[in-house]
Amino acid sequence: MRRYFDRSPLVQGTLETEGPRYCPSIDDKVIKFPEKESHPIFLEPINRMSREVYMQNFSTSMCLEAQLETVRTIKGCEQAHILRPGYAIEYDFVPPTQLEPWLETKAIKNLFLAGQINGTSGYEEAGAQGLIAGINAARRVHGEEVFVLGRDESYAGVLIDDLVTKGTKEPYRMLTRRCESRLIRRHDNADLRLAQKGFETGLLPEEKMEILRDRWTRMNAEQERLYTVKCFIDFHLFASLSLC
Ligand SMILES: Cc1cc2nc3c(=O)[nH]c(=O)nc-3n(C[C@H](O)[C@H](O)[C@H](O)COP(=O)(O)OP(=O)(O)OC[C@H]3O[C@@H](n4cnc5c(N)ncnc54)[C@H](O)[C@@H]3O)c2cc1C
Repeated sequence: MRRYFDRSPLVQGTLETEGPRYCPSIDDKVIKFPEKESHPIFLEPINRMSREVYMQNFSTSMCLEAQLETVRTIKGCEQAHILRPGYAIEYDFVPPTQLEPWLETKAIKNLFLAGQINGTSGYEEAGAQGLIAGINAARRVHGEEVFVLGRDESYAGVLIDDLVTKGTKEPYRMLTRRCESRLIRRHDNADLRLAQKGFETGLLPEEKMEILRDRWTRMNAEQERLYTVKCFIDFHLFASLSLC
C-alpha cells in the first residue's frame, strides 16, 4: 500500500475534508498507526446465491491497482477480482449552528433538516434527528408548539444541543462521553424519561402506555418493599471469604 501512496488522494491531500475518525479507511490506518501489525477484515457474502463478497473493514480510496494488489495479499483472496472498487466521498453540510433546536433552519422557515446534511455521521444520529425534525414538521403543519428534547433528558437532546450551539468541524458522532449525565441516561430508564413525551406527541399509543404504567407501578411497589428489607452481613464469613 505504501508503494502506491503517491497516487492516494488521502495522502496527496486531494481530499481536504476531515474524515470520520471512528471508521478510518485502511490507507488511513497504515498512515496513522504504522506500528500495528494486523487488521481484521470480515468477508461477508452478499447473499446465498452469489459468489460476491463484501470486504468489511477494508474501505479505501486507493487507486484500483493498489486495491487489487492489496486484496490479493490476503490469504484466500489470491485470485479475487474486484467488482466494485472502493472510492472516497466528500459531503457538503449545512453549518448546524444555523439550525434551531427543533431542527428548522433559521434562514428558511418550515425547512427542517436531519442527518448527515447537519454534519453528523451514523445511523442512530440520523435516525434521532429525523425523529425530532419529523415531529416538528408535523406539529408545524398542525399549528402546534415546537418539540425540543433537552440535553439533560436524552442523548438526542445532547446531540442536537451540541450541533446547534457548537457546530462541528468533523463528522459528529454521538459518543456517550459527550453526555454529562450518562450514568443516569440509560436505555433501561428511557421509558421513565421519554414515554410521557412520546404519548403527548401522539407517537406512543395508549395500549403501550398502559403496559408502561403497569411497569412503573410494579417498579414503585418493589422499591417500597426493598425499603423495608433489612440485610444482616456476617462479617466473620466476609473476612474468611476475603482471605480465600
Ligand atoms: C460505506 C459506509 C459505511 C457506513 N457504516 C456505518 C456504520 O457501520 N454505522 C453507522 O452508524 N453509520 C455508518 N455509515 C454512516 C451512515 O450510513 C450515514 O451517516 C447515514 O446513513 C446518513 O443518513 P441520512 O439519512 O442523513 O442520509 P442518507 O442515508 O444518505 O439519505 C439521504 C437520502 O436522500 C436521497 N436524496 C439525495 N438527494 C436527493 C434529491 N435531490 N431528491 C430526493 N432524494 C434525494 C438519497 O438518495 C438518500 O436516500 C456509513 C456510511 C458509509 C458511506
